[in-house]
Amino acid sequence: MPVLNRVASMKEEMAEWRHVLHQNPQTKYEEEFASSLVAQKLTEWGIPFKKGLAKTGVVATIKGQKTSSGKSIGLRADMDALDITEKSGQPWASNNPGKMHACGHDGHTATLLGVAKYLAETRNFDGTVHLIFQPAEEGGRGAHKMIEDGLFRDFDCDYVFGIHNWPGLAMGKAAMRVGPLLASVDEFDITITGTGGHAAMPHLTTDPIVIAAHIVTALQSVVSRNVDPVGTAVLSVTNINAGTGAFNIIADTATLSGTVRTFDNELRKKIRQRIEDICGHFCKGFGATFDMHYDFNIDATVNSKDGVEMAAKAVGEILGDKNVETECDPCMGGEDFGAYLAEKPGAFILIGQGVEDKNSPHNRGLHNASYDFNDDILPIGVSYFTKIVENAMPLTK
Ligand SMILES: [Zn+2]
Ligand SMILES: [Zn+2]
Repeated sequence: MPVLNRVASMKEEMAEWRHVLHQNPQTKYEEEFASSLVAQKLTEWGIPFKKGLAKTGVVATIKGQKTSSGKSIGLRADMDALDITEKSGQPWASNNPGKMHACGHDGHTATLLGVAKYLAETRNFDGTVHLIFQPAEEGGRGAHKMIEDGLFRDFDCDYVFGIHNWPGLAMGKAAMRVGPLLASVDEFDITITGTGGHAAMPHLTTDPIVIAAHIVTALQSVVSRNVDPVGTAVLSVTNINAGTGAFNIIADTATLSGTVRTFDNELRKKIRQRIEDICGHFCKGFGATFDMHYDFNIDATVNSKDGVEMAAKAVGEILGDKNVETECDPCMGGEDFGAYLAEKPGAFILIGQGVEDKNSPHNRGLHNASYDFNDDILPIGVSYFTKIVENAMPLTK
């Protein structure tokens, strides 16, 4: 079955919502424009909703023609943009200097609005659907904040589903996998405190730069020696700062910072401990002290087996089973959707948006200044989400 007819007829309207969202990008908990547009459309369609979760988040609830199944499903879109100056050249390019929808969250929001409109019109299911419009996916832990603000307490969901447009995958295809699809993303900051002094009299100092250099080298052994070779992790030190620029002064302190990524939420704890142990023993050995801040930032996005089965069936009915990859490779990128999947079964899947023209903005990578969401996949996303709902909570006479 191709995209649903009613959904296909909504395409122009959905593209208009997407363009106006694209023109008005806002970042991390400042998504007032998107949040207001969502609220305005929901009001127009008579769909009840709650505003204010995670500041700009909105959760709408649509009940089916029957709710006797007692089942419920959460469908999620992210609304935030990025700090990028747009170079797409599209007529609907950003009006906010330095801000851009370079990850296609404008398209995700327009998709979920399309789902809202379709489901409110048809209500062809037996159960309850919660539409989750969240802020701050990009480095703001918006999903975690939605949960902290009572998302699953106030809106019970048996399953959660989300999508991401994927430029590296052709339009008409979808990809997913059981287990981890996207990595956890953690950040660390380490401050090493020694004793500064004259560069010509190092014996009177405790040089934090020498200690930092040892630590950076030793940290390379964490992934190679402490992580199971069939597992996967990345530990990168991405900043090292010390000194004032002078050639004759030994600094008092040196700071290191970086990121840890894995597909295994337990492994993250072990890596954190190894970093602390290495810092502790080197600093003790050299007579310095250290202070570490480790931020368990974003969980790995881990799909449940039954969630992927439901997702594959639904998207297969739209795109054809042969166009659905159910054992795709995981990606070291991060997504805060993992927070929902840490609490509920479900699936996060990739919807292809690539086209033949190599120079098309739809083929640019996510977070590229020339990228643009492909409006042709709006009906695919809407049909997918509605199939999930209608398949999982069928209306029986
Ligand atoms: Zn992104
Ligand atoms: Zn994204």
